[in-house]
Amino acid sequence: MKAETREQQTQSSLVDRFNRRIDYLRISVTDRCDLRCVYCMSEDMQFVPRSQLLTLEELYRVGKAFVDMGVNKIRITGGEPLTRRGIMQLFQSLGTLDGLQDLTLTTNGTLLKQHARALKAAGVTRINISLDTLRAERFHSITRIGDICRTLAGIDAALDAGFQRVKINSVILKNRNHDEIPDLVAFAEHRGMDISFIEEMPLGEIGDHNRAELFYSSDQVLQDLQRHYDLIPTTETSGGPARYHRINGSDTRVGFISPHSHNFCEQCNRVRLTAEGRLLLCLGQEHSKDLRRVVRANPLNEEPLRKAIIDAMQIKPKGHDFDITAQPVLFRHMNVTGG
Ligand code: SAM
Ligand code: SF4
Repeated sequence: MKAETREQQTQSSLVDRFNRRIDYLRISVTDRCDLRCVYCMSEDMQFVPRSQLLTLEELYRVGKAFVDMGVNKIRITGGEPLTRRGIMQLFQSLGTLDGLQDLTLTTNGTLLKQHARALKAAGVTRINISLDTLRAERFHSITRIGDICRTLAGIDAALDAGFQRVKINSVILKNRNHDEIPDLVAFAEHRGMDISFIEEMPLGEIGDHNRAELFYSSDQVLQDLQRHYDLIPTTETSGGPARYHRINGSDTRVGFISPHSHNFCEQCNRVRLTAEGRLLLCLGQEHSKDLRRVVRANPLNEEPLRKAIIDAMQIKPKGHDFDITAQPVLFRHMNVTGG
């Protein structure tokens, strides 16, 4: 990633049937995780056998092919990306790609203390850290097994390493953590961070709660916050689906990711790669292309991979049909999807 090439960046050549330009790739590098958040996973998850995962070299090849076709933002996610063995190698190699303006990470923060500085050195531009509560017991209950101290230490480590615009992601569930919304914002503001509130999405069986019963909309979150903060709507974007407000007199942005109440499909600019090499064209639909097969069948020739990616744009659906009240939900869990 070089500053001068950022300025010269041309538009992505990947365009779908609805004239949406795809310039953003999210890569789930593993479906495994050291936590078991109740909205994301079930208690006894079956994970993909390691032999079926794309290797780090294959992940790089796919990432590079996208960047060569104009994708300028890659987010590494999972599962918990920092649990994948050797993952720093992928950050380091992607970090050298000309044309990649933004190399970002979504993490639960538990391993950031060890890795934050190396991530910065590798060229990671921004980090999102998931934190739904500030209370240790609640954290343990929402994550089923987690220790909040590790995530808090990870947040400190990201800030100490010099990351700008660190963002907290909070999924809000009624009667589980909705009473902490102002506290979470205060926590972020105090540390100069941004925060986004996410509506729970119906991905995979979780065996914990009825998603419709615990649904807490972005509008409710906003109303709660307006009792404590003067929030000014902005048109700012971080290249994702969040709609932002700024806290009057502060740098902190408060984002809302609202797949149910404010569908964001019309401006969709992204596709997702699963750890097995399946290219998902939509978060909430099953349209996909098997890129692992293409990569492995053509170890020395990138042309078939490029063609497969271009062809896949033609099956990107218009949007998701999330219905929080519908059963069954999409079988695929968020850790596989790469949330
Ligand atoms: N493990 C990392 C983390 O938790 O940040 C990265 C992967 S996690 C799947 C990415 C984001 O998806 C997290 O912010 C998490 O809160 C969110 N998420 C997981 N399951 C979700 C669901 N069912 N609905 C909405 N957001 C979800
Ligand atoms: Fe793990 Fe992230 Fe899913 Fe929580 S949300 S279980 S941290 S992948």
